[in-house]
Amino acid sequence: MRAEKKITIIGAGLAGALLAILLARKGWTVEVFERRPDPRLAGYEGGRSINLALAERGLHALRLAGLTEAVMAQAVMMRGRMVHSADGGTQLLRYGKDDSEVIWSVHRGRLNISLLDAAEAAGATIRFNARLDRVDFNAKTFRLINDHDRRDEVRDFAVLIGADGAGSALRQAMSGKVALNEHFAPLGHGYKELEIPPADDGGFRIEPNALHIWPRGGYMCIALPNTEKTFTVTLFLPNEGDPSFATLPDVAAAHAFFARDFADTLPLVPEFDADWTNNPIGSLSTLYLDHWHLDGRAVLLGDAAHAMVPFHGQGMNCAFEDCIALARHIEEAGNWAEAFAAFEAERRPNAEAIQAMALENYVEMRDRVDDVDFLLQRQLERV
Ligand code: FAD
Repeated sequence: MRAEKKITIIGAGLAGALLAILLARKGWTVEVFERRPDPRLAGYEGGRSINLALAERGLHALRLAGLTEAVMAQAVMMRGRMVHSADGGTQLLRYGKDDSEVIWSVHRGRLNISLLDAAEAAGATIRFNARLDRVDFNAKTFRLINDHDRRDEVRDFAVLIGADGAGSALRQAMSGKVALNEHFAPLGHGYKELEIPPADDGGFRIEPNALHIWPRGGYMCIALPNTEKTFTVTLFLPNEGDPSFATLPDVAAAHAFFARDFADTLPLVPEFDADWTNNPIGSLSTLYLDHWHLDGRAVLLGDAAHAMVPFHGQGMNCAFEDCIALARHIEEAGNWAEAFAAFEAERRPNAEAIQAMALENYVEMRDRVDDVDFLLQRQLERV
């Protein structure tokens, strides 16, 4: 394997950038191709969830990559769930006995930039505006397109690693060669983000060290804090039925819905009308595959292999664990096919278990509002 030291990663999101760090530090020649422009020059084009819950699984991976300091400097501690009931009452359900058992709210864009900086510092090459378009697995070449100037380019590869997210182009290319048996299970619920700005005195408007949740039966809002004293609020709601995104066709209907079901959030979101109008409705699905790799030529990880609904807050955390496992198997195995097979055998059962827990957790988070003892018990089991 060392004879072919070049590793090509598609996607410089959270998983692609972390894997590039780990492999470059081990002496591999790592090239990464990312379809978006460089966020350090063009601003971050995230497109979804502004902040993320970072748990011990993800933190462990960042520790191994030597990134804890950079990331934790921009993280806000969340001690537990702050449950907001319909009558406006609140109750904090701690994740653990004390602050040794907490999770952290991190900004997706800033985290990504820290990872990109560290990947380049470790020696990886990252090319932006380079979207994987197609792959010739026999000739071992792939085609990239720059979506801005429409120029294309064909390059060769030794091995391809797909960290290109839920809509993975590499996965699509692999499916022409191996029966991946791809199955996307839509949740039937979407999400929309709103912002709570800082208070007039510059502080947080609500308790900063908590993951806020407004459970309302079949739907809910959550809010995670940001270091700039804002919160990102996410409404999770069915796409069809009543209430649903279909029954909220305009901002007036949305406003009336919030006034009825999330009355205490409305005064916290002064730009409600603009946020509702400008922020898209995101979709949520779980991705199942029978295979994650094409012999020794290509392998998938992170959302490209196992996208999940976000209710266990573990998609990124799980993707980071994938990176650690894949880097280890690449170091230890005798050939690429063996490394990729061992990686899949280790990680696929884990990812599938977390996918199932994430689906269960949605029902629990939105429905079990009255059963505080139940919620508390589950929290303790999981974090
Ligand atoms: P991505 O982050 O999607 O990165 C993929 C990268 O590949 C992107 O940079 C993309 O531009 C690039 N790319 C795509 N196609 C191509 C192509 N053809 N060529 C080149 N590059 C390409 N996880 C948590 O752990 N905690 C949370 O609290 C949490 N909250 C979430 C909330 C929401 C609303 C959502 C939707 C997700 C949440 N997640 C959370 C999940 C988390 O966002 C994902 O699991 C994580 O981003 C996966 O990382 P990734 O690198 O595999 O994919």
